[in-house]
Amino acid sequence: MKLEKSIELYTRGKKHLVGAVNSPVRAFKSVGGVPIFIDKAKGSKIYDVDGNEYIDFVLSYGPMILGHRNSVVEKTVKKYMKNGYTFGASTKGEIIMAEMVCDAFPGMDKVRFVNSGTEAVLSALRLARAFTGKNKIIKFAGCYHGHSDALLVAAGSGLATLSIPGSKGVPDEAVKNTLIAEFNNIKSVERHLRKGDVAAVIIEPIAGNMGVIRPTDKFIKELRELTKSHDVLLIADEVMTGFRSKFGGAQELLGFEADITCLGKVVGGGFPVGAYGARNEIMEMVSPLGDMYQAGTLSGNPIAMACGIATLKELKKRNPYEDFNKTAAFLEREMKTAAKENGIDLHVNRFGSMINPFFTKVPVVDFKTAQTSDTDKFKTFFWKMMENGVFLPPSQFEAWFLDTAMTKRDIYKVRTAIRLAMKAVANKHK
Ligand SMILES: *Cc1c(COP(=O)(O)O)cnc(C)c1O
Repeated sequence: MKLEKSIELYTRGKKHLVGAVNSPVRAFKSVGGVPIFIDKAKGSKIYDVDGNEYIDFVLSYGPMILGHRNSVVEKTVKKYMKNGYTFGASTKGEIIMAEMVCDAFPGMDKVRFVNSGTEAVLSALRLARAFTGKNKIIKFAGCYHGHSDALLVAAGSGLATLSIPGSKGVPDEAVKNTLIAEFNNIKSVERHLRKGDVAAVIIEPIAGNMGVIRPTDKFIKELRELTKSHDVLLIADEVMTGFRSKFGGAQELLGFEADITCLGKVVGGGFPVGAYGARNEIMEMVSPLGDMYQAGTLSGNPIAMACGIATLKELKKRNPYEDFNKTAAFLEREMKTAAKENGIDLHVNRFGSMINPFFTKVPVVDFKTAQTSDTDKFKTFFWKMMENGVFLPPSQFEAWFLDTAMTKRDIYKVRTAIRLAMKAVANKHK
């Protein structure tokens, strides 16, 4: 595999960028070797600076659900570029976008757009505290909610892979009101709720940042009832799952309604957009209607809104969710068969267009079981997939994503790569 130009850029980049990246997972630290640098992408394919072509399962960690540079989206973005980039005053696009989002999520009467998932979630916590007048937040081990201070505990993916217990620079006071519960374990939530002063429980309703883990129907149902009976808000962090699991996100799929919903990733179609929303009674706390302050110079950016609107419209029209399911089921079967033929312990978790294998004997239902995965095996698997033209997230604990641009031919190519990669794992890890 030729990576000379990536190596050159990596070496050069390290001088003035931290680890040559702007987000840690891009440094490929948990799979070793040199991170690839991207030249361009189109449809289901992404190309690095050495000219290697890959079928893209990273998709910028979720946003590119229509594949790269969908022609309708690209045309729309180009058109809006001509009108100017940002105004610091409102545009019609923000209203259309808000109508589309509130239509997709019945629990949202009003929405506020921000610039990232991190920002959406930290604002949602402030809102929950403002609305309830209470201080504590319950989060689940292994769920990631962005990099704000209060949520950088037991936070999955990047942190899970590096085994860092949180992060340096976060004062104890910032996390003293953050309580940790176990995913799929309602008793662990109940225990915290009994102590009182809880403003909200925040959850990735389908976890995607410790690998893909789905909640049991019973757990979600009980979580909704329990929070309601304690007058505690339920925050669905659908930054990854919004418009990805289904148009109405994990809430539509699992059949529940959160009090506050956070969005990001797909909602911007590749531009920086985050959002949080809730019923009127809650959103009326937010400035300028209420006394909870939250603002943003570039929030609701017109180009980002245009891209988001075009992406959501196209997505709604295509309704690809059943096809995603079928493709994911095919990939699951292929991975399991290849693993079995090679005597490798493997579990595959998937939900809609999110899927990933865990190299473990144990069914993965929470953070603890996710961590039984053999990350060395994943490392071997990852590089063999790359060699055979499949770009995967460079971590055992990141979900792979599907897009509507993937063809049958792409998927057969992936199948071949899977077979070769499982063989390589068996050979290397006897
Ligand atoms: C990606 C992600 C975030 C953070 O979003 P950013 O745009 O990276 O700040 C928050 N929550 C979940 C569930 C995510 O997947």
